[in-house]
Amino acid sequence: MFGTALSQLRYGMAVLRNRRIRPQDLERIARDLVATLAEFGEPGEDSALLPGQSGRSAQIDPEVRRTVTRRSLRATARIAVRHTAYYHRVFAELGLDPDELDETGYARVPVTPKKALRSMPTAFVSTAAVPALMALTTGTSGAPTAVWYSRAELDTTIALSTISAALGLGLRPRHTLAYAGCSRATLPLLNAAESATRVGASFVQFGTIDPAIALDRLAAPLGLPGKSPRITHLTASASYLATLVERAERDGWRASDFGLESIGVGGEVLSGPLCARAEAAFGAPVSTSYLMTETLPSGATPCTAGHLHHTREFGHLEVLDPITWEPTAPGATGMIVHTPYVPYRDCTLLLRYATGDLVRLPADEPDCELAHTPATSAVLGRWNGPLSVHLPTRALLDLIEAEPEVPLPARYALTGDPETGVRLHLVVRALPAPGLLGRLEDRATAAGLPLTAIVLYDDRADLPAATPVRADLREHTFESVPTAGIRTGSGR
Ligand SMILES: [Zn+2]
Repeated sequence: MFGTALSQLRYGMAVLRNRRIRPQDLERIARDLVATLAEFGEPGEDSALLPGQSGRSAQIDPEVRRTVTRRSLRATARIAVRHTAYYHRVFAELGLDPDELDETGYARVPVTPKKALRSMPTAFVSTAAVPALMALTTGTSGAPTAVWYSRAELDTTIALSTISAALGLGLRPRHTLAYAGCSRATLPLLNAAESATRVGASFVQFGTIDPAIALDRLAAPLGLPGKSPRITHLTASASYLATLVERAERDGWRASDFGLESIGVGGEVLSGPLCARAEAAFGAPVSTSYLMTETLPSGATPCTAGHLHHTREFGHLEVLDPITWEPTAPGATGMIVHTPYVPYRDCTLLLRYATGDLVRLPADEPDCELAHTPATSAVLGRWNGPLSVHLPTRALLDLIEAEPEVPLPARYALTGDPETGVRLHLVVRALPAPGLLGRLEDRATAAGLPLTAIVLYDDRADLPAATPVRADLREHTFESVPTAGIRTGSGR
């Protein structure tokens, strides 16, 4: 594996010097990792040193870490100022010099609001890059955001996804991955298909189809040589997973009807109760990760202590107060503000990008297996004014989705404000629902949720306007599915 060693060395030197990462080096590392898996069945001992893995490589000297961070921030800002209309203007107006920025001085760079990127995406595209693919965010919270990617960025992202599929997800050639994300989300789809098949696994695109059809396809025998008998891995958004759980519970599917070994969820808040119900319904562990189109390949993975641990290699993480943009204190809630670094991103360049995602900082120093990388809570929800900090999506879903009398995905709305009182409006299966309201009120009080009333509905049409979820992006198919009857026994 001399070639890999050389590629890794070159990669390591490029990171330290903030030189351009050669996609072919990352591709070579990914290819050799796959070859190692094919030959020995397991990754080599040095896999913790591979790009994007939070192994020993992350435990470097704090002084060296600061130097690398300063160098990366300066290099990213320098290129953004030189080559994008937006940052050229911002730095000129404030008289900022990218070459004088350090971690403290970086706080003088204004936070980039999401609406700036949404309203003028090309003002963030580097004049030195060749745009190749426009990735659109799902935009359930409004108009989608366009993020241009260069071919080199795609190659880098795919190579890193391949390493992550092999090491993080544990994907092997006998596996088959079904992707039940929106078919129009080109970038995640491309990444999932490329990384799975480069590992040697097979790939099936479901899209967000009728959940009854998706369950039939998950349970159907594949009959492929060298492959597990049925689909082993599923990737979906939390709300689409909720529709699958709802349908599986309703139609009497059993976990043994499926061959799933792992379910990956991203893009939306996954509540504790939904996670538990999905694991019971499908008999497979559910895991989450944090990735977003704007800041790839930066991301975060959960640890066993329940934190979300963020990569440092590909970008700079800040957690800031969503109103003052001052750093969030330990134990408090703030917004993820991220700067993706230039060697990995060269087309759409962002400095201090306000992601809108709320997290809590741990009150104490984490003591877990990933303690050497920055930790936050899991994403609590999206910033939507001060109420979203006191009543975040996660707290509401933890309350609601634990109740089997609430159809999934949960449909709810909040009205009022903290001064006049906040009311939670919620759709349930049927009314009256004896005991449900009292139970919800008790649990809301125990969780410290500032709600003045909970109102139940048995008709969704009566619910005040609710936020759409990704499962609402239903893709139609010509397949006809029998919708009546209770399923028993194994799937067809
Ligand atoms: Zn942790």
